[in-house]
Amino acid sequence: IFLPHLVASMEVEESYIMIKPDGVQRGLVGEIISRFEKKGFKLKGLKLFECPKELAEVCFLSTGFRNFGYSVHVEIEDCVVLKRALQGSELQAFLSQLISYITSGPVVCMAWEGVGVVASARKLIGATNPLQAEPGTIRGDLAVQTGRNVVHGSDSPENGKREIALWFKEGELTDWTPVQAPWLIE
Ligand code: UDP
Repeated sequence: IFLPHLVASMEVEESYIMIKPDGVQRGLVGEIISRFEKKGFKLKGLKLFECPKELAEVCFLSTGFRNFGYSVHVEIEDCVVLKRALQGSELQAFLSQLISYITSGPVVCMAWEGVGVVASARKLIGATNPLQAEPGTIRGDLAVQTGRNVVHGSDSPENGKREIALWFKEGELTDWTPVQAPWLIE
């Protein structure tokens, strides 16, 4: 039963959620997975993974640009040219820090599916700066610094799909129907 003013997104979406190396090293894997699981989202992919440098570069080039005030969508094939263009710049220094962080140890890659999962996961994760993240959120409860904020979550349904395709190979995702489904979605 939905009253019109209570309807949020009813779209089934996918979000790429990743526990960053600090989350793995600090023994927070179970705690973080449990928050998404208990909320009622469906886990479709899960793996412990050492992120190759090339993948880290693709992922962080867009982030780097955004943090420097530019909105740029970077695809794998743009990477080499962009890296060359950025050499010696402040943005490149920022990027290499992000890349060393994300390649500094294993990460846990996850694909989660659910109604409105993208925005909801961002709420569960909390603000980028853990000191500004609300208590009750993952970052609000478990982290103190932006550069060590333990978890990543896609920022749009399009990026959810794109990032899952980037981090998972074919055959690594599983579609299944949890028995609790009818108790979560009427
Ligand atoms: N980041 C950082 N310093 C900054 C901004 C970002 O170390 O000043 C890192 C941090 O790990 C952050 C990631 O870059 O989670 C991606 O930044 P974004 O702005 O996309 O934030 P998020 O979506 O992760 O909240």
